[in-house]
Amino acid sequence: MPRQAYVNGRYVPHREAAVHIEDRGYQFADGVYEVVPVYSGILVDEDLHLDRLDRSLRELRIGEPMSRPALKLISRELMRRNGLSNGFLYMQVTRGVAPRDHKFPKDARPALVMTTRQTKPHSKQLLEEGLKVITVPDQRWERCDIKSVSLLPNILGKQAAVEAGAYEAWQVDRNGMVTEGTSTNAWIVTQDNKVVTRDATHSILGGITRHTLLKLIRAEGYDLEERPFSVEEAKAAKEAFLTSSTSLVLPITSLDGQPVGNGHPGILTGKLRQVYIDYMQSLKKSA
Ligand code: PMP
Repeated sequence: MPRQAYVNGRYVPHREAAVHIEDRGYQFADGVYEVVPVYSGILVDEDLHLDRLDRSLRELRIGEPMSRPALKLISRELMRRNGLSNGFLYMQVTRGVAPRDHKFPKDARPALVMTTRQTKPHSKQLLEEGLKVITVPDQRWERCDIKSVSLLPNILGKQAAVEAGAYEAWQVDRNGMVTEGTSTNAWIVTQDNKVVTRDATHSILGGITRHTLLKLIRAEGYDLEERPFSVEEAKAAKEAFLTSSTSLVLPITSLDGQPVGNGHPGILTGKLRQVYIDYMQSLKKSA
């Protein structure tokens, strides 16, 4: 059976799935999204993702498209139809379809789209060599905590990374401090083994992987600091890594063309990746 998508109440072939040209997501990027990782058929941290979706909607005063149980039901039905075991579920909610006009429409209903994608495990080479990251100015607005589909600066940053032969771009604020990657959170391990990631203010998206890894790091008893760090500090760090629902925990071995630490994936980074994978496996066992 061809892959299907869920579009405003209907399951349709993915290839033919479409929204109206006056959907405000298309016209104004007036919408929000979530990416929920799927591991061995389990939606990892589903409720945390749905909490963040609710929060993004509330902050933008977009209504909930349906109840949480209904969203969960559709997620599972789409996964079933698509035979999804490992990959992710994408959901997007926009303010709806209305004649193009900046102000909120009076009677538009929130529009909901869901898709799934199967992904392959990260390659051995990627894990052994680690990733290259470049830095770019953070050109985004002041509410990066909202998971809005308005992603132009992120797209430009990622493209700059690709053109520089890198995997990700770390965005840097006016004070020279790293905010986060274009689709990942940024972390370093200092020479004295402190794990550092920026505190979750309006300057970054509060990643769910970040949230869960913070809890796991605390439980493991590693030293941890949630604070901004500069590009210079990152360049002098022992290790660096990034996190996201699709990257999990991935080592960074080059920053702006300079080796991070000894130029090889960090030992603590490797441990944290394993701790996170063990966590996902524990969800499968307790399901
Ligand atoms: N920051 C940004 C800007 C992102 O787009 C993402 C991915 N959604 C993340 C961080 C990581 O968030 P999560 O761990 O929830 O995937």
